[in-house]
Amino acid sequence: MIPGPTPVPETVLKAMGRHPIGHRSGEFQAVVERTTAQLRWLHQTNSDVLVITGSGTAAMEAGIINTLSRGDRVICGDNGKFGERWVKVAHAYGLEVTVIKAEWGKPLDPDAFRNALEADTDKQIRAVILTHSETSTGVINDLETISRHVKAHGTALTIADCVTSLGATNVPMDTWNLDVVASGSQKGYMMPPGLSFVAMSERAWNAYERSDLPKFYLDLGPYRKTAAKNSNPFTPAVNLYFALDAALEMMQEEGLEAIFARHARHRDAAQSAMKAIGLALFAAEGHGSPAITAVAPTGIDAELLRKTVKDRFDILLAGGQDHLKGKVFRVGHLGFVCDRDVLTAVAAIEAVLISLDAHNGRMGAGVSAASSILSKS
Ligand SMILES: *Cc1c(COP(=O)(O)O)cnc(C)c1O
Repeated sequence: MIPGPTPVPETVLKAMGRHPIGHRSGEFQAVVERTTAQLRWLHQTNSDVLVITGSGTAAMEAGIINTLSRGDRVICGDNGKFGERWVKVAHAYGLEVTVIKAEWGKPLDPDAFRNALEADTDKQIRAVILTHSETSTGVINDLETISRHVKAHGTALTIADCVTSLGATNVPMDTWNLDVVASGSQKGYMMPPGLSFVAMSERAWNAYERSDLPKFYLDLGPYRKTAAKNSNPFTPAVNLYFALDAALEMMQEEGLEAIFARHARHRDAAQSAMKAIGLALFAAEGHGSPAITAVAPTGIDAELLRKTVKDRFDILLAGGQDHLKGKVFRVGHLGFVCDRDVLTAVAAIEAVLISLDAHNGRMGAGVSAASSILSKS
């Protein structure tokens, strides 16, 4: 129950367990053709969705270096660990960064973006870079509204880290006018780590033409050119492509609406269970991510709780990052997660709280609260 790597269905594991085939073979081209179409479906876009062998960070870095130039002005949203990371990447490439911050646990304020964009009357801002679902704090940012403000600016691009939102909640790339959408296989895709995905709008490709940041392996031009012929510029992770094919087929069978509903239900169940046993949620009310619930218990070391849940029940929860270590634990409910997983995690947390003499409610209150949400479906 961590927010990545997430559980992998047996169908997907089996699909991977084949001998690799030639990446220039017709058989492999058929896999690329199929997955390309499925990826467009998942992103709700007609634009290119390119596949990179690398982790989610590679996709985000690719999005930034393929659309921007040295000295470009950008706005980065920062309300957690991943927001911080994109500020670092932007600095590493010599961009001029304005950071819009929110306290960890709070969502980014769309008005702060609107104000900064409206003040930019000579259109110097080239991009707004932000994280949709901030995994470190369990907060979902209002990407739809922020992207609308970017669109109103006229020339800036929206570059979005959708690593823990894509495949968990609605991210309609075209409808929301997103220019770059980055994601990674070990999150909502129900796959092992190793592939990342970067979707590029037509506006992003126009920006690509004038982008002068150095790039070679992550130069998306060759990816686009070869994708049009159902191929890749370099040797792709062939077996992960088999996994991708199987995972996307499972997702299509379930359907986007059902996938989003399941994640929302698990978020609601986890939130309501934690509240029922007297544990405070870390994300501001109404801004919890459908992928992950961060919990800030008082009077108990979150690391001790996490460790005991692992030792006694073999359920792995995520810890707090940086200054949140020991203060926060996080329950991932992203990807291949079912109602039973959420219920057993809640029950395990309750049992451990009892054993540590730290249960603030009635034993079973969490399970009961979660059950009543889950039974509504
Ligand atoms: C996991 C994650 C990433 C990608 O991290 P990698 O380790 O590079 O795959 C990026 N953003 C968010 C919000 C994430 O949760």
